[in-house]
Amino acid sequence: MAKHLSAEQIREFEALLRERHRELRQDIHQALIESEDSQFQDLAGRVHDPGEESVADLIIDLNIRQIDHQVQELYAVESALARMRNGTYGICAECGTDIQLERLRAVPTATRCIDCQSRQEKDYVGGAGSGTPTL
Ligand SMILES: [Zn+2]
Repeated sequence: MAKHLSAEQIREFEALLRERHRELRQDIHQALIESEDSQFQDLAGRVHDPGEESVADLIIDLNIRQIDHQVQELYAVESALARMRNGTYGICAECGTDIQLERLRAVPTATRCIDCQSRQEKDYVGGAGSGTPTL
């Protein structure tokens, strides 16, 4: 686990993420129920099942445009909870340094430190539509 986070802070973030997970599941469940598609309605039952810990994988492939944003966030929340379990929560996936506490407070699902994140966003902006050929 990231050394800069106390057990208490980890618990705080975990509670936050679990609460967000619950909310997102509710939203997605509602959207699936309201859809006309029986395949989606079957899925709604599983999304709502409290025993089902990771539901994003079930829905992410379906590409349901109306709930795409929620599914992406659900996926990020589940990944963050998984990182808590394997002890890599709060550590930058790019450079391996501790992600700043203020950043985690603002974005509890953050996978990168501020430096790597802004570099990535810059690369992305520069790469998209700039006409530079990529290898
Ligand atoms: Zn980094």
